[in-house]
Amino acid sequence: MLEPLFINVCVFISFLYFAGIVMRNPQRSPLPSLLLMGVFFGILGLVLMNFTIPLKHNSMMDLRHLAIITVAVYIGWVPALISAFIITAGRLLMFGVSPEAVVAGTAMFSIGILSGLMTRLRFGNLYKLQMMNIVSLLIVFFALIKNIGITETLKVFSYHFFTSLAVGFIAYFIAEQIKRSNEQYHLLEQSATKDFLTSLNNVRQFDVSYNEALKHAHERNEKLSLLLIDIDHFKNVNDTFGHHAGDMVLKELGKVLKHHSRTFDIVSRNGGEEFSILLLDCPHSHGMVIAERIRAAVERHSFFITEEQSIRITISIGVSTFPDTLSQDGEEIFEQADKALYLAKRTGRNKVCDFQMVQAIH
Ligand code: GH3
Ligand code: MG
Ligand code: MG
Repeated sequence: MLEPLFINVCVFISFLYFAGIVMRNPQRSPLPSLLLMGVFFGILGLVLMNFTIPLKHNSMMDLRHLAIITVAVYIGWVPALISAFIITAGRLLMFGVSPEAVVAGTAMFSIGILSGLMTRLRFGNLYKLQMMNIVSLLIVFFALIKNIGITETLKVFSYHFFTSLAVGFIAYFIAEQIKRSNEQYHLLEQSATKDFLTSLNNVRQFDVSYNEALKHAHERNEKLSLLLIDIDHFKNVNDTFGHHAGDMVLKELGKVLKHHSRTFDIVSRNGGEEFSILLLDCPHSHGMVIAERIRAAVERHSFFITEEQSIRITISIGVSTFPDTLSQDGEEIFEQADKALYLAKRTGRNKVCDFQMVQAIH
């Protein structure tokens, strides 16, 4: 009896580990991950059933209910129901339709429904998991009585009960550990690529995205426009209203830039009060139109520095476009945009200049 149980525990831990890896990068839409996890834990239940402990009269005992409970606690009621359905169907298909199989299948599906309902309870994960475990064990207890009779059930059930609780604890500790390490991973990933103040890409991520976008544009024969943005006289904002007010303006400007660019454009804070937007698949003339639209939007926008007080700011923008600039080199294209920005500053600020204007001067 110990050997199959040991295998049950090992299989369980391996599946938890893989589920943790799959869930490490949550998708934008959660539904595919929920479906995937439902199927994944359903398969776990089937594998556990494969290493079952055979009892009398076509009955068996294993930890398949823990697959349903664990996915219910850590992921939700949708995958709990899916996994319960798969396990119920699997029980009937793998071991044949018999009155015992129907009782066992009904028990598993009831566990799925009850666990799904219990996910709503506002308890800690350990408490929730073990409560679901005990409720499930009660259902299994009555199913066993129905299938093998009370005397046989009493012989094996205490062993099953305590093993299931012990594995419940193990599942909790491992799942919590995986959850924590996934959270740390996200925190680390976030701080490595995002600017903490505006949540836009930081300069490191800008470099990565810029090189990728250039490569992509080159391969697909597309155009790529780069907007370098700098706030005009931002030092005055800090000097007049304080550094905190300056920070609020930077944060708000991040939102305005994001709002006025297309969803797939890459908006970054390159440092201090300097921002950039990579306009993917965007010819120069269109890049200039977008830049002007953004400049005008910032000029119109009220930047709140307290609940009541708002100020106005302006920005200057330098634009260059791959491959319209004479060079195809990333650094040089960036420099062209930087020179255009400098020209905008020199010739009055609150305006958009491009690499052609810089060339016209020389
Ligand atoms: P210009 O129109 O020529 O760009 O003038 P400016 O005053 O914006 O330019 P300058 O480069 O002289 O000053 C930029 C200021 O931005 C200086 C610095 O105090 C401020 N700054 C940079 N990073 C931050 C930040 O994270 N928070 C705040 N509040 N201010 C910042
Ligand atoms: Mg600056
Ligand atoms: Mg500035």
